[in-house]
Amino acid sequence: VSARQDRDFRALMDLAHGFMASQVLFAACALRVFDAAALGPVDAAALARSSGLSPRGTRLLLDACAGLGLLRRRRGAGPRGPSYTNSPLASAFLVAGSPLSQRSLLLYLAGTTYLCWGHLADGVREGRSQYARAVGVDADDPFTAIYRSEAERLLFMRGLQETWSLCGGRVLAAFDLSPFRVICDLGGGSGALARVAARLYPGSEVTVFETPDVVAAARAHFPAPAEDEDGAEPRVRFLSGDFFCSPLPPADLYILARVLHDWTDAACVELLRRVRGALRPGGAVLLVESVLSPGGAGPTRTLLLSLTMLLQARGRERTEAEYRGLTARAGFYRLRLRRPRGPYHAMMAARGGGAGARS
Ligand code: SAM
Repeated sequence: VSARQDRDFRALMDLAHGFMASQVLFAACALRVFDAAALGPVDAAALARSSGLSPRGTRLLLDACAGLGLLRRRRGAGPRGPSYTNSPLASAFLVAGSPLSQRSLLLYLAGTTYLCWGHLADGVREGRSQYARAVGVDADDPFTAIYRSEAERLLFMRGLQETWSLCGGRVLAAFDLSPFRVICDLGGGSGALARVAARLYPGSEVTVFETPDVVAAARAHFPAPAEDEDGAEPRVRFLSGDFFCSPLPPADLYILARVLHDWTDAACVELLRRVRGALRPGGAVLLVESVLSPGGAGPTRTLLLSLTMLLQARGRERTEAEYRGLTARAGFYRLRLRRPRGPYHAMMAARGGGAGARS
């Protein structure tokens, strides 16, 4: 066996065991290991006692977390064994309530995405989503499965909004949006990105257009943070409807963040045509997506996200040229891409004439 084969074998085993690393992360989040460690060093016996876990399972999980860089392990003297503290990664992203927490996203990935990925071969064979096998919901509209209960709806909304605490400012500052007074975030979920827009562009009026159940959940469970409350008129308002068939409110700028990647080319063009019809002269559309590199060979995480779209939606991730093609078919022109730091990119295309064509 050559040194090269040894290296390849190690790489193969890393790939083959990747799902175990994800499960360690998911289980530790679900069992609130990082929340406990945020209060001070934990040891396996004490954590097992306070959380009602098995001492053996807890010890193995904590050690695996330390091996993966999620916890730091300090050798203990005496019978108590090692103690564990959160790594900087865990402190920033895994503790509930921390400003950059991604905990809901991870719980969502564990409870839905992971189950769909268990049927990847079926998805590739059939070319369709795998909710029926994974969660027992066989619906034509992917969001019927995603929103299969109120708890799942809230988890999905929370999970998606966590992205914007990290990336929202960057994608919305990639282009100067200040010329656009009336902004509509189409399929804007909980309103998190819309709130970032309202903060960054205080002269704007921002509306989230969403399905009625999402709007009801946003109003009930995602109140505006205190600094956004300006008395009688909240700066982000919600409007409910179906973006494929309800009238869209007139706007100067439509944001479609992680919306087009859910849908087929034909559905994207239909939606973009409706957006173009509702835009005021000089208006534009801002697409926020994880854009594939030219030719579509990477980045790997975006290729994996594309498979998630196969398993959980009807679309895929696309290249800049593909987004340019879709927007052109809907009557937009001059699509430009900006890639701020982070996984999400911004593309702007103009409806024609006026402010939207510049910036
Ligand atoms: N834009 C948000 C973000 O990036 O965090 C949410 C993206 S999520 C992948 C797609 C959103 O589209 C969901 O919030 C969903 O409720 C919304 N949506 C799906 N179908 C819709 C429809 N027919 N009309 C309005 N909104 C819809």
